[in-house]
Amino acid sequence: MSDAALVSIWRSAIRRDEVSHALETIYAELGEEISKRKPRCEASGRCCRFESWGHRLYVTGLEAAYTIERLDQPAPDVVNTGAMSLPVLEESPEPPSVISTCMIDAAEAQGGCPFQLDGLCSVHAIKPLGCRIYFCDPEAQDWQQSLHEELLRGVRAIHEREGIEYLYAEWRAMLRLFCV
Ligand code: SF4
Repeated sequence: MSDAALVSIWRSAIRRDEVSHALETIYAELGEEISKRKPRCEASGRCCRFESWGHRLYVTGLEAAYTIERLDQPAPDVVNTGAMSLPVLEESPEPPSVISTCMIDAAEAQGGCPFQLDGLCSVHAIKPLGCRIYFCDPEAQDWQQSLHEELLRGVRAIHEREGIEYLYAEWRAMLRLFCV
């Protein structure tokens, strides 16, 4: 199947209320778990500078479609507030209304994410699972991997239940598919 066909399937799927609601339910569940655990986040933005931080963000096609489809819409009321203070959220920059290969090229050249603006996430309310669950707080290391695996199984289950093609890929590589 072509990249364009895959993206079309994901975008069509996430426009369906039952699919977007299922994904938002997983995000909300994670928000509750994080609120209980209260990992420390100083909003340094280091974790979004992948190359220098030494990690990679992976996402499913449906999650990427969720973010892309909502770039030009008001933020949904599903925000992981477990570790972010309100002032940080209020200072979050406006997201770009579209994603382009130029933006991804520039982000890759700097080793980061195209949605990180002025050191902050511009898509905080619509970011994928891997961003929501990752904390550099050493005390989060004990639980975040297992919780991530559990919730990712939930995202995969949406793909399977709804007959949506599944792909799990590095964030910027996945975003490139949406630029075709
Ligand atoms: S989407 Fe936001 S939180 Fe995730 S890597 Fe990009 S800037 Fe960071």
